[in-house]
Amino acid sequence: MSVPDTHATHGPVPPAAANRALTEAEVGLVRHMLGNGNADAQQYLGQLDLLEVTPWRCGCGCSSIDFQVRGRPPAPAGVHILGDVVFGTGDDLAGIFIFSSQSMLSGIEVVGLTGAAPSFLPSPDMLRPWSDAAGTGTG
Ligand SMILES: [Zn+2]
Repeated sequence: MSVPDTHATHGPVPPAAANRALTEAEVGLVRHMLGNGNADAQQYLGQLDLLEVTPWRCGCGCSSIDFQVRGRPPAPAGVHILGDVVFGTGDDLAGIFIFSSQSMLSGIEVVGLTGAAPSFLPSPDMLRPWSDAAGTGTG
């Protein structure tokens, strides 16, 4: 997939000590996306209790986050999509996907579809399938 230049999918890997716990909202979002994702997404629900958010922030200012499974090395580069949906409407239409790398949950990325990538993470009730992305019937 194409990503704007300012929107880096992966940054330098910081020390694990700087990681933080997921917020309740992030836990709910991960749980929802895995529970409604691809066929192999649900097997990653077991990693949720061990999941941490790394200090990495996307240079474009969006709300994409990277994960690290506690006690494991940082997930290596590489993106395996586990769930991929959209949220927002019109100029705020955005895509969001959760991904793994080598069987470790690796992050959530947001992508602006009509404008800049959003600076917040959506709640589960905001998420819609790609077939409902634009209402144009092209999906
Ligand atoms: Zn970004």
